[in-house]
Amino acid sequence: MPEIIVIGGGVIGLSSALALQQRGHSVRLFTRELPQDTTSAAAGAIWAGGGLDGRMRRWADDSLTRFLTLCQAPESGVTLQRIQDFRRHYPGALSLPWFASRLPYCQRIPAAELPSGFVAGLWLDVPIVAPPRYLQGLHEQFLAAGGRLEMRHIDSLDELLDEANLVVNCSGVGARKLADDPAVHPIRGQTLLVDAQLDQGFMDESAFTYLFPRDDGTLLGGTQRADDWRREADAGESASILARCAAIEEAVNSATVLRVRVGLRPGRHAVRLEIERRANGRIIHNYGHGGIGFTLAWGCALEVARLANATPPPSPLPEASKRGSAFREAEF
Ligand SMILES: Cc1cc2nc3c(=O)[nH]c(=O)nc-3n(C[C@H](O)[C@H](O)[C@H](O)COP(=O)(O)OP(=O)(O)OC[C@H]3O[C@@H](n4cnc5c(N)ncnc54)[C@H](O)[C@@H]3O)c2cc1C
Repeated sequence: MPEIIVIGGGVIGLSSALALQQRGHSVRLFTRELPQDTTSAAAGAIWAGGGLDGRMRRWADDSLTRFLTLCQAPESGVTLQRIQDFRRHYPGALSLPWFASRLPYCQRIPAAELPSGFVAGLWLDVPIVAPPRYLQGLHEQFLAAGGRLEMRHIDSLDELLDEANLVVNCSGVGARKLADDPAVHPIRGQTLLVDAQLDQGFMDESAFTYLFPRDDGTLLGGTQRADDWRREADAGESASILARCAAIEEAVNSATVLRVRVGLRPGRHAVRLEIERRANGRIIHNYGHGGIGFTLAWGCALEVARLANATPPPSPLPEASKRGSAFREAEF
């Protein structure tokens, strides 16, 4: 089978590359950063499938299946953690989410046990990923299956279609330029890894504050700043995260900060996962996963592999019709 090129060494690109290899394809991956330096490496990263429907729910569900299996193998970097998910505002009674029966444990927190200021809450046992270890594992599996990872900045998708007739574009926020898609924008986020050991995690979505116990420490967050391209850590934001988390969990006060990371979530009104056919080949776009890229990654990767197998390469077009011939073949 002809070689497929994947652009992107974050969780979306590595997952897509692996899913393609599992279908028998040989894959070359181009990235301008090592996996450990991508946005993916800065993430929480909790599986967060709440509020999704349609194909997003299907992708999240497929990813959940994979993560629940990986939780049995601690070296994967995925562990099952008890989380308290609190809400300050909630219209009506808090019903159990669609995935409640898929998790080993998911229960409403009785009103009498809610901290002051909260009106609803859930206890859940949910997979949490330690991205450095998880990405390292994906990278190793990719290489072991014969994949090649090359550090290369790509300026244009057409330039790659001269090298392969199928390119998978998983360039995250880089897709704004690479796919000429102004709908893509950065949503900057900062996290701190500390050495505190917690029995359970905590999440307050309305204050955008979370503490996630992981296999490499406890991750504290967070921040979200739209259209902010800065990749360097902001000391003021670190102080704010520490103060918010210490107000919830006293152990944070005496914890050592092991690492501060910044990532640019690839914001978009919807994930773009579709095939574009050009005169000299096909592109599968897989970007725009915003704040839930880990939640969707494996399901999207399976979709990429299905699309790659389902659509034949283009038949050669007459010279005249090659100019400006990009069009959408499929949209989901
Ligand atoms: C602070 C924070 C917390 C988060 N928490 C969670 C969470 O709890 N749960 C969850 O599911 N998600 C979470 N996310 C979201 C998740 O991290 C992202 O959705 C996901 O990492 C996006 O992955 P990606 O592979 O598309 O992008 P990236 O990780 O940014 O990877 C993009 C890749 O494309 C490459 N690239 C881009 N342009 C080019 C080019 N021109 N040439 C060559 N290579 C290029 C880059 O080098 C990189 O390798 C969080 C994100 C942040 C920042």
